[in-house]
Amino acid sequence: MISTRDSSKKGLSYSDVLLAGLAPDGGLYVPSEYPQFPHPELATLTGASYRDIAFTVKKKLIDGDILDEELHGMIDRAYSEDSFGAAEGGNIVPLIRVEDNFYVQQLSLGPTAAFKDMAMQQLGQEMDYELKKRGEHLTILGATSGDTGSAAEAAFKGLGTVTLFMLSPEVGMSAFQKAQMGSLSGGNIFNVSVRGRFDDCQDLVKELKGEEEFSKLGAVNSINWGRISSQVPYFVSGYLQAATQVGDPVDLVVPSGNFGDMLSAYIAKRMGVPIHRLVVATNENNVLDKLFKTGVYELAPAQVTSSPSMDISKASNYERLAFDVLKRDAAALTKYMKEFESKKRVDLKDYGAGPEDFAKLGFSSDSSTHANRLQAIRDVYEKCSYVIDPHTADAVSVGFREKKSDGIPMVCMGTALPVKFEDTIKEALGFIPERPARFKDLEKALPENAFHVIDVDAEQLRQYIRQHASIHG
Ligand SMILES: *Cc1c(COP(=O)(O)O)cnc(C)c1O
Repeated sequence: MISTRDSSKKGLSYSDVLLAGLAPDGGLYVPSEYPQFPHPELATLTGASYRDIAFTVKKKLIDGDILDEELHGMIDRAYSEDSFGAAEGGNIVPLIRVEDNFYVQQLSLGPTAAFKDMAMQQLGQEMDYELKKRGEHLTILGATSGDTGSAAEAAFKGLGTVTLFMLSPEVGMSAFQKAQMGSLSGGNIFNVSVRGRFDDCQDLVKELKGEEEFSKLGAVNSINWGRISSQVPYFVSGYLQAATQVGDPVDLVVPSGNFGDMLSAYIAKRMGVPIHRLVVATNENNVLDKLFKTGVYELAPAQVTSSPSMDISKASNYERLAFDVLKRDAAALTKYMKEFESKKRVDLKDYGAGPEDFAKLGFSSDSSTHANRLQAIRDVYEKCSYVIDPHTADAVSVGFREKKSDGIPMVCMGTALPVKFEDTIKEALGFIPERPARFKDLEKALPENAFHVIDVDAEQLRQYIRQHASIHG
C-alpha cells in the first residue's frame, strides 16, 4: 500500500495500514494497484452467499496478509446470524424492487441498522486479530454525530484488545440513536456526551491526538482503509443480483457524505466489476455535487438536515479519488490538497484536469432537499409499500432524476433503516415506521449513567480517559 502523498514509498502491508490512521505525510493509504476481477471469476460468485463473496473480494484486497482460514473466521463472526438475524433467507444485502430496473439495496440489516455496520463489524474482527498477533492493546478515541458511534460500539463491544471512547454531542442525535449508543455503554465501551456540537467533539479528538500522551490513540473513522475495503463486497453482491448476466452494465446511486461508501463502489468498478454509472447523491450539503459538476472542491459550513449522517463540510475520502484523477502523481496531489487546506477551495482546472475526468470514470452527481426526500419516501412507498429512510431517499430522489430509458438496471444504496429517523417518516407518510422487534424497548433499556457528560473542555476529557484506560503501557 502507498500514501496518496508519497507514492515512492512502497511496502506497507494491509495490516500495518489497518492500525494506522493517516499516513505520516498526511496522505491516505491506497493500494499500489487495484487487484482485478476477471468476468469468469465474477460469474462463479453468482448466487453465492454474502460471506463467500466477502471472502473472495477481501482476499484480493488484503494481498495475502491474512491466512485464508483466519479470514474465513473473521467474516463468519462479522456477518453472523447473531448480528444479521434480521436478514430473511440469509441474504444480508438484498435488493428491493421499486419498479422495472430500479432497486434499493438494503445495507442496514446489521446490529445498529445503518450500512456502517457492514464495514465496522469486519474492522472490529480484523483489528482484534492484528492486535492479538502483536500482543498489543489499543485505546480508540472517536467522535460521532450518530451512526458511526453505535456501529463502532456494536462491533468492538467485548473485544479484549480494544478500549473505545466515543464522543457525541449532548443535543442533536435522534432519541433512537442516543438510546442505541447508551445501551452499549459498559465494559470496554465508554460514551462521553459533550455539551457542544459535533464539531466540538471532533476538535477535542484532534486536540488530544496532537498531544504526546494521547498520540497513540487509534481511530475508526471512515478514512480507515479497513473500512473502505470491507465495503467493496456488497457492491459486488449488488451487481450480481441486478445484472441479468455477468458483463451487463449496472448503474449505482450512493447517498454520500464523507465519500467512503462511493469510493468503495468506485474501487469495485476499478477492479473490473461491470458497473456503468457511479451517481453521487448529496443532500443540501452539496460539496460533492458541486465538485463533480464543476471540478471545484470547496469547504462549506455544514447545515443540519433531515439526512444528518450526510451533513458534512468536506469529504475526506475524496483525496483517494483525486489521486487517481491526477494520474497518481503524489507531488501534484500534495500541492492540490495543501491548497484546499489553506484556501478552503481548489480547482482541478489549475492541475490540468477537470470534471470531464470524473465523467470518464463514470461519475455524475445531483443533490436533494428536504422536500425531495419526503417525496421520494412517498413515491417508493406508493410503488412497493416499502419504507425507506431519509438518506436512502436522497439516493432515490437523485436516482429517479438520473435514470435513463436505456434498460440498464439502477441500484440505490439503502444506508439506514427508517426506524432511526421516525420524525421524518411521520412527516412524509403520516405514520411511524414499525419497529423491528430487536429495537422495541430500546429507550427503556437505557442504563443510568450511560453517558459521562463533559463540557467542551479538553482537560475533563483527559482526566476521564486517564481514569478508565491504560494508555501508558
Ligand atoms: C455515513 C452515512 C452515509 C454517508 O456515507 P459516506 O461514506 O460518509 O459517504 C449515508 N447514509 C447513512 C445512513 C450514513 O450513516
